[in-house]
Amino acid sequence: MKGKVYLVGAGPGDYKLLTLKGLECIKKADVIVYDRLANKNYLKEAKENCEFIYVGKASSNHTLSQDDINRVIADKAKEGKIVTRLKGGDPYVFGRGGEEGELLKEEGIEFEVVPGITSAIGGLCYAGIPITHRGYASSFHVITGHLRDDDKENTEINWNALANTNGTLVFLMGVANLQKISSNLIKEGKSKDTPVALISWATRSNQRVITSTLENVYETAIMENVKSPTLIAVGDVVELRGKLNFFETKPLFGKNVIVTRSRTQSSSLVSKISDLGGNPIEVPTIKIDKIENNVALENEIKNIKDYTYLVLTSKNAVDIFFDKLDEMDLDSRELSNLKVCAIGSTTAKEIKNRGIKADIVPEKFVAEYLFEELKDVLKSTDKVLIPRAKNARDFLVDKISEICEVKEVHTYETVLDDSKKEEVLQILNSGEADYITFASSSTVKNFIDIIGHDNIDKLNELKVISIGPITTQTAKSLNINVYKESEVSTIDGMIDSIMNDK
Ligand code: SAH
Repeated sequence: MKGKVYLVGAGPGDYKLLTLKGLECIKKADVIVYDRLANKNYLKEAKENCEFIYVGKASSNHTLSQDDINRVIADKAKEGKIVTRLKGGDPYVFGRGGEEGELLKEEGIEFEVVPGITSAIGGLCYAGIPITHRGYASSFHVITGHLRDDDKENTEINWNALANTNGTLVFLMGVANLQKISSNLIKEGKSKDTPVALISWATRSNQRVITSTLENVYETAIMENVKSPTLIAVGDVVELRGKLNFFETKPLFGKNVIVTRSRTQSSSLVSKISDLGGNPIEVPTIKIDKIENNVALENEIKNIKDYTYLVLTSKNAVDIFFDKLDEMDLDSRELSNLKVCAIGSTTAKEIKNRGIKADIVPEKFVAEYLFEELKDVLKSTDKVLIPRAKNARDFLVDKISEICEVKEVHTYETVLDDSKKEEVLQILNSGEADYITFASSSTVKNFIDIIGHDNIDKLNELKVISIGPITTQTAKSLNINVYKESEVSTIDGMIDSIMNDK
């Protein structure tokens, strides 16, 4: 087996600013080597058992040297692994990607480079600054601001050329040398009044932009406590920000919203929050525990020919059922005499992925609606199999049993997921979050079970948004102050509650 390395540009930070090819490389990696500027959420796309190696600045301020990074990448590839090296922005824009590639070449390791959106262009764009513009700048120059201390003659950068071009200048890694940068440009003839933008954490929900002039920018940066990572944009294009700023004007820009995840509702809430410019912080509250060595399920599959209906109520139920078929060396043909029912379009889609079109998919995705359809077609001679969660509601089984024989087999259990406890407490303690959303009573209860009843008062530091009266009641019974209850009890209703909160 031969290893391979992908040097992948992870873009400037906004989760969706990654190329399709970059995503593909993340998904197939055995090892992902990443640093501070690559959005960590990409790691969620990796396959199970993928190894993650962080090579950015750690809390101890200890950085792996470039040689060590090169070594790690090469060694892992030599073990026959697919290594994806995720770098912020573009790998070849001050990312030392060239050096990593050279070493791989020397060692005979196969590699590919996937370009990314560099912060120099994408970061300015999200600040409302087009890097070129017919009326303002006909070229742009991307320059390192990480100046060498031993450059006594000040010749590392041709300041004179930069000062005398009308193109946009973008300095990366330049905050620490801002005074040197601005004074060199002024000394070589650039106007003191040239507009400058300092763009920190560009394209992220914590993006901050400060504008000034070449003459004053150093003082402004000190006063505003500007820190790395920051882009320094110099040129008249900065003035267009007033008109072209589309990102910071989004309704939820700068808002950090904790989304407590139930099984179904979170993903649409998460994507809506980010589309509106906010930062969703997902906290799962439950996880799925599959019942192992499920002899009961095996027995019913052996007798599957006795059944006339199969009801699958979730993606998990589908996965476990079909995986078991496969494990028993059988396939979907076993189900050829059965009618298959699905609750939910996702469930139906999963069944289709397994080669079967569901016969009955109720209009609304609840057991009551499925029963409405079943009650008209079921005969007393029918026999229904329902492999599903241990803690599911009794309704469906009870009602069907009034008509015909029905067999429920437990295949999994939903249990509390407290794996993120420390992380959640850290977020609550940091004061970073503005809102927390609860879309059901059970998520309130589960969330409190996860953080512990002693920590309930930490919730009172943030604005609690409830989806409706029942959820609010549950929250209140736990001494949680609900800041707003949605007027309409839907995900959109919760979004409105946050948007209307000024
Ligand atoms: N390869 C990267 C740049 C690496 S050098 C790219 O193409 O974007 C690191 C510097 O890039 C930082 O010091 C900062 O100046 C800049 N930078 C990268 N991402 C940034 C971001 N999201 N916001 C502001 N500056 C960023």
